[in-house]
Amino acid sequence: MKYAEVIIGLKAKELDRIYYYIIPDKLIGLIEVGMRVSVPFGRGNRKTEGYVIGICDEAPTKHTLKEISALKDGFPVFSKERIELAKWMANKYYCTLTECLQCIIPKIAKDKTVKYISPCNMENAEALLKRSKRQAEIAEFLKKTGRIELDRLMSELNVSSASVLGLVEKGLAVIDETEVIRDFYKATNAEKKNSPTPTADQQRVINEVVSDLEYTGKKPFLLMGVTGSGKTLVYMEIVDKALKMGKQAIVLVPEISLTPQTVQRFIERFGELVSVTHSGMTDGERYDQWKKARTGRISVMIGPRSALFAPFDNLGVVIIDEEHEKTYKSDISPKYDAIETAIKLQEIYGTTVVLGSATPSINSYYKALQGEYRLLELKNRINMKFPDIYAVDMRDEIVLGNKSMFSIRLQKAIGEALADKKQVILFLNRRGHSTFVSCRKCGYVFGCESCSVNYTYHKRENKLVCHYCGAEEDIPEVCPGCGSKYIKYFGIGTEKIMAEVNKLFPEARVLRMDADTTKTRDSHRQILSAFARGEADVLVGTQMIAKGLDFPRVVLVGVVAADMSLNSSDFRAAENTFQLITQVAGRAGRADNVGKVLIQTYMPENYCIQYAKKNDYVSFYKEEIEFRRQMKYPPFTNLCTILFSGEDEKTVITRIHELAAILEFYGKGKNYERIGPAAAMVSKIHDKYRHRIIIKGLEEEKLKNYAFYCLNKLREREDMGGISVNVTINPKYIP
Ligand code: ADP
Ligand code: ZN
Ligand code: ZN
Repeated sequence: MKYAEVIIGLKAKELDRIYYYIIPDKLIGLIEVGMRVSVPFGRGNRKTEGYVIGICDEAPTKHTLKEISALKDGFPVFSKERIELAKWMANKYYCTLTECLQCIIPKIAKDKTVKYISPCNMENAEALLKRSKRQAEIAEFLKKTGRIELDRLMSELNVSSASVLGLVEKGLAVIDETEVIRDFYKATNAEKKNSPTPTADQQRVINEVVSDLEYTGKKPFLLMGVTGSGKTLVYMEIVDKALKMGKQAIVLVPEISLTPQTVQRFIERFGELVSVTHSGMTDGERYDQWKKARTGRISVMIGPRSALFAPFDNLGVVIIDEEHEKTYKSDISPKYDAIETAIKLQEIYGTTVVLGSATPSINSYYKALQGEYRLLELKNRINMKFPDIYAVDMRDEIVLGNKSMFSIRLQKAIGEALADKKQVILFLNRRGHSTFVSCRKCGYVFGCESCSVNYTYHKRENKLVCHYCGAEEDIPEVCPGCGSKYIKYFGIGTEKIMAEVNKLFPEARVLRMDADTTKTRDSHRQILSAFARGEADVLVGTQMIAKGLDFPRVVLVGVVAADMSLNSSDFRAAENTFQLITQVAGRAGRADNVGKVLIQTYMPENYCIQYAKKNDYVSFYKEEIEFRRQMKYPPFTNLCTILFSGEDEKTVITRIHELAAILEFYGKGKNYERIGPAAAMVSKIHDKYRHRIIIKGLEEEKLKNYAFYCLNKLREREDMGGISVNVTINPKYIP
């Protein structure tokens, strides 16, 4: 008797274990580890999807076991390595194995559409089908009929989908659907272009990485290359080498719609071998991409973090571009971090991992200095000069009587650029609802001393609140720094900026790009290409316009309110701001124009602004890492955030205080530090009140276990109905 170890495809936590099923005779020899199966489950024996993660001769239970009903696909959807990866994810990110397995494969499209099958590469049929009579029959049939409806073929020949798919697997037939699959990148996919020859600098980096492709037991690379240093060409050369060695490559970008030019270059170079996944895809389209990767029809997958799961069987290299970006960590379960997961792939497959950025995250650079990553550098721009970056001291404006959100200097620079028929980018680095309070005269910012983060203004209570420890304060009448009454709540948006441009420069054509103007599927690309075609003079936008864009006519970038992110109540405020300024500055002065960047700030002496101005990452890092060390923030500790949300605020607060007491009790004498409970950054969403606790701990594993142990204690004691709990280890944003 043979048994299968099956994971049931239902999400409930209590079902998160192995179930044993008898493999019926008809499936012996057909069933393999990694296949999707249909099994009877529960009292009603409902047909349920399951995943075979092992096959054995003994089952540990004495209970009467049920039999597997059928195979779903007839081929394994998971390799053994992918199952190992899923197990690792389930443990690391504290979630069920089912969730992880389902995260790795695409939702298999349930079609309404009609499928057709067509023969291809028939010259190989004889050799490939020697040992499968059934498939040879189908091939013979297909040769005669040509493209035919799949269902018709199956009924006429009385064959299973498994045998047909076997043929597809061998590349002797392709299945297509009548539904027109819209390929986002087909339209722009012009002729193949030759890449330039790498410079000596680029070649040095390429050689280092390429020599790694054969070698196992290695460490990830961190490629720190300034904006415009030609990182994309380096990536492409590495990918090219991997392909020539018969391996495949995965290239991650933060968000496809924001990096159209990078994707375009890969398509121009590798043509049909590349496939792109993106968030706008339907399940069917995603499945198609996955299948193409599985059957070896493509060798390069580009996409956001989920592209990491492209089912290549000889994965040579994973490249993570803009590695500092927060989108690389999933905020829904499984809350995987693409960098950590790529490094696990390195361990499992011996894959080379390259993390690239002009402004690596503090964490990554720290690891590089510790020797965990191998640091590679590109210090020079190709054919480009660095733009001149200036900080504009906004405290002077009030003295000059200027109440506009644009300094006199910025107004003048915009006017000049427009007169010159050049283009301008106005950038607002605002994230979410960060509203801080500061003095317009001296720049003093109200903040919490014990957490070293700024207070957030709460309109509802008209109070200043520390979002880490929960401390509250009334807003003083006068500034404690200079005694003036010019206390200001910061809360400008892109709409206001656009209105201001229209007022000051009525003749200018202005485009806006933010979450509001990009709700439809193709809107990012439309706005960006309209601007690239010169249909507008000014582009106003958020973070969305900061990334890898190449607009040759842009001569001026204005950072309207640098303090907006610098003063946000996140311990990474300076890191985020430095990254944003550096990135957005990289948009200025491409081609022949010398670019100018104006950073408007009330704190021009701040180290973040100072080093961003000089484009000096290393000095910035040195100051920032000292701050982290002193305040015991990552990378020196691990953080765990626990967020409760519910409609009844009183219950939410009561429960989270109970949790705090439990954490206190079980944390005694251990090295944990708890901050809060406090209102979350966004204290109410969809009528649900949100409160949270932060815990710091030295060891990630212990911290995680401690947090979940205490949460379970709370669940045992109290009714948690109506409250949802969200736990994240090392979140990219403090909720
Ligand atoms: P990064 O991603 O590092 O900001 P890019 O990859 O966008 O930089 O490269 C900047 C520009 O330099 C692009 O227009 C690119 O085509 C060009 N470039 C890169 N490498 C070379 C090279 N070896 N010779 C000529 N031009 C190059
Ligand atoms: Zn505080
Ligand atoms: Zn003041």
